[in-house]
Amino acid sequence: MNRKYRKTVIAGNWKMNKLPSEIRNFAEEFRTLIPRAKWCDIVVCTPAVMIPAAVRAFKEGKVAVGGQDMSAHPSGAYTGEVAGAQLVDAGAKYVIIGHSERRQYHGETDEMVNAKVLAALGSKLIPIVCVGESLETRELELTLDLVTYQVKRALSGVAPEQMRKVIIAYEPIWAIGTGKTATAEQAGEVCTAIRAVVRAVYGARIARSVTIQYGGSMNAANAEELLAQPDIDGGLIGGASLKPEELAKIVLAANQE
Ligand code: PEP
Repeated sequence: MNRKYRKTVIAGNWKMNKLPSEIRNFAEEFRTLIPRAKWCDIVVCTPAVMIPAAVRAFKEGKVAVGGQDMSAHPSGAYTGEVAGAQLVDAGAKYVIIGHSERRQYHGETDEMVNAKVLAALGSKLIPIVCVGESLETRELELTLDLVTYQVKRALSGVAPEQMRKVIIAYEPIWAIGTGKTATAEQAGEVCTAIRAVVRAVYGARIARSVTIQYGGSMNAANAEELLAQPDIDGGLIGGASLKPEELAKIVLAANQE
């Protein structure tokens, strides 16, 4: 983390979990655990239909709400899709774009991810743009090449003034939901490389202001070590974010002086 130049953001990805009553219970318990998070922003990303319930439940806390995907189109005949403006109207401030589960199960390409990033920014949503390699790519020692390519493609056409609103999440696919975490050094190395890509395209001032998260089996036990890496500015957390006490411990790890 480097709080001097950029925000630390702890974001939960709840995936396809929780009903309104469960969201209310989570928020009530979470509030008692985190009276005040001074140094990091907290986000929970829920299924689109649950956003209003989450906004109501977290109204008194300092927890923002995000979506998990959105359409690249502003409106029209796209059955089943949700537009950025609709997420905003529901109360979302953030949206996850290009999660590996979307890439893997819904055929999202780098081109689609780029179109969604531009659409999110156009809707004034903060995109949390996910990139990351498979185990095979890591074993072939192609991680940095792939991630560099993904970041460049995802950000194509993003104007410098919009870049400050973009969060990049490095999520090695082999670490998502598997209990296998990248070591702090592995995660830190890729996050540093991602910042270097942003620096090459947008310059040093913008690069140092961009929040880069790590995601992949982050939990209460490993968060502190991961967040101690200079280029890891937070986490995108799946499984562990479903439990208020686990998410609270990760937030506390991000709030160390
Ligand atoms: C994720 O889905 O973005 C994620 C990182 O999941 P988990 O923390 O469960 O690995």
